[in-house]
Amino acid sequence: ADGDRLPALVIGSGYGGAVAALRLTQAGIATHIVEMGRSWDTPGPDGKIFCGMLDPDKRSTWLSNKTDQPVSKFIGIGINKDIDKYVGVLDSERFSGIRVYQGRGVGGGSLVNGGMAVTPKRNYFEEILPSVDSNEMYTKYFPRANAGLGVNNIDQAWFESTEWYQFARTGRKTAQRSGFNTVFVPNVYDFDYMKKEAAGQVTKSGLGGEVIYGNNAGKKSLDKTYLAQAAATGKLTITTLHQVTKVAPASGGGYSVTMDQIDEQGNKIATKVVTADRVFFAAGSVGTSKLLVSMKAQGHLPNLSSQIGEGWGNNGNVMVGRANHMWDATGSKQATIPTMGIDNWADPTAPIFAEIAPLPAGLETYISLYLAITKNPNRARFQFNSGTGKVDLSWTTSQNQVGIDMAKKVFDKINKKEGTIYRTDLFGTYKTWGDDFTYHPLGGVLLNKATDNFGRLPEYPGLYVVDGSLVPGNVGVNPFVTITALAERNMEKIISTDIQ
Ligand code: FAD
Repeated sequence: ADGDRLPALVIGSGYGGAVAALRLTQAGIATHIVEMGRSWDTPGPDGKIFCGMLDPDKRSTWLSNKTDQPVSKFIGIGINKDIDKYVGVLDSERFSGIRVYQGRGVGGGSLVNGGMAVTPKRNYFEEILPSVDSNEMYTKYFPRANAGLGVNNIDQAWFESTEWYQFARTGRKTAQRSGFNTVFVPNVYDFDYMKKEAAGQVTKSGLGGEVIYGNNAGKKSLDKTYLAQAAATGKLTITTLHQVTKVAPASGGGYSVTMDQIDEQGNKIATKVVTADRVFFAAGSVGTSKLLVSMKAQGHLPNLSSQIGEGWGNNGNVMVGRANHMWDATGSKQATIPTMGIDNWADPTAPIFAEIAPLPAGLETYISLYLAITKNPNRARFQFNSGTGKVDLSWTTSQNQVGIDMAKKVFDKINKKEGTIYRTDLFGTYKTWGDDFTYHPLGGVLLNKATDNFGRLPEYPGLYVVDGSLVPGNVGVNPFVTITALAERNMEKIISTDIQ
């Protein structure tokens, strides 16, 4: 409540925030999370908490009158739907050169993501984060993160036989015929539950067209793992529908944190100020960067490093679809949970790791869809705009061309071998590449650059960064395992040296 004094305040409840909350509460510290989204624990009038992808309603989208799906068109027909403005679960935040998809609610991105739980390649991790002891990461913190997240693997015999993964087998077959390496990808979706879905024994979620607007079952999102464990300590409290707008040193020590309370249509209904001894920034790459960039520019945290806002990247994200021949069907039934990838990372001419993505349209489309993570080296910065009072991101769409070129080498080769073509209708009209959005915002407050080597903001003792903003723009795989493992590492250090 307004005027409260707290030992530890965490801004945001995604991966970084959930790890911070668990490790702080387990250390006996009363911890409070402030989350701008809602808590996704109450069913709507249809008895479901989340809506599906094929019949989205207001629950799908953050404060917009229309859905904004990444695949926006199909044979010339727009897929997006008019909806009521509401604090829905998926945000596509628009900057001048890119849309950044993010989860909103208790659990952050874990509510909306595909659950792909990938440990990065060790040599690339060492390249991007040379100040981090990689031996410790790979023997201790990656295993700890995978265990805490509940990562599991698909039963490969079942994968080979089920109609639900025909799309992935077709994607694998066509890649392998061109000589590309494919790999199974671990996930936090419970594959035992999925088998029961296929057998008709439980309610379908991953086999029922649910994922980017939330899964009603099956997925071990953070509210079921880290956050549930933190709550079980009895030391965690969470305030939802409150957006932090300001953090500044408090006169009696600690930090005063200002927040807007919003209603379910996003209207501001109150402003509150609390004081916290320690503040953990876990608002995600975009949320944390925006807050810290504006606090520095507005003079509330003027001594922050000049590195604040730097080093942002889109994890090289590029989406593309291919039209297979009719004898290479992808199935009218498709699981929403990806579990197969094309791994061409070691090829310096076309370094990509491409998820073979589902396109659960409910009918046979013969489309293979891919979300490629390319080794795009381009970076952008967040900057405060004194004219608008907002934070801009300097990324331009043309900065993604190098990523497109890398992906194109791989998919051109597959098309040539198969005698197939790209779909040019999925991301616009006559537009092959989904190059103007990302699922994987990373960076803005880089580890050991804008912070110290453990996420502390050294100019302001008691302020910490624990989320994806620490990761330098590109990690070569889907990022949440890396974000979780780094948070585990940094929180262990912070709790043992700063707090106890
Ligand atoms: P987030 O998880 O984004 O959490 C930040 C939280 O802070 C949010 O809940 C937000 O609402 C809240 N917040 C922000 N600003 C404020 C504020 N000012 N005040 C209060 N609260 C605030 N990654 C993978 O590894 N595998 C995948 O399969 C995968 N699929 C994805 C699919 C989609 C559709 C999307 C959008 C993402 C996907 N990702 C995937 C990416 C992954 O979800 C993110 O990398 C991850 O969630 C980032 O974690 P984080 O802790 O940095 O921040």
